[in-house]
Amino acid sequence: MERRNTRQRQLVLDAVQSLCDHPTADEIYLHVREQDAHISRGTVYRNLHLLADTGEILSVKAPGGERFDRRMDHHAHLVCSECGTVIDVPLPPDAGLCKKTEDLTGYANVTSSTILTGICPSCQKRLEKAAGGEGAMRPARMA
Ligand SMILES: [Zn+2]
Ligand SMILES: [Zn+2]
Repeated sequence: MERRNTRQRQLVLDAVQSLCDHPTADEIYLHVREQDAHISRGTVYRNLHLLADTGEILSVKAPGGERFDRRMDHHAHLVCSECGTVIDVPLPPDAGLCKKTEDLTGYANVTSSTILTGICPSCQKRLEKAAGGEGAMRPARMA
């Protein structure tokens, strides 16, 4: 039984590592099922949280739902408020903020899990089209 559990955990871990860009639990489940048709959704979810608890993967509490991340180094996330896509912020995290917070509050080991939201480029295009394409954006005609 223990061997089976270990194998399932490994399958889940492999799925998180091969699905880049912060898959949802459902996406991971579908991927794992291609390797093991008998694995249940509950088993995949349980293993995901186990792996997050032991620090092998990261659970990202994004506004649209929980995502999982194979990247364990400290980084901020950027979430599209339209489609829910989650990407890594291409900037180093602000260590000064944590340090300053420690100084001001007396707390120790302050870390931040920053989630920024915005509208991704493809949603911007889609919204622009929905609003009437170029016409809507055309500046007023000069007299
Ligand atoms: Zn989007
Ligand atoms: Zn990430």
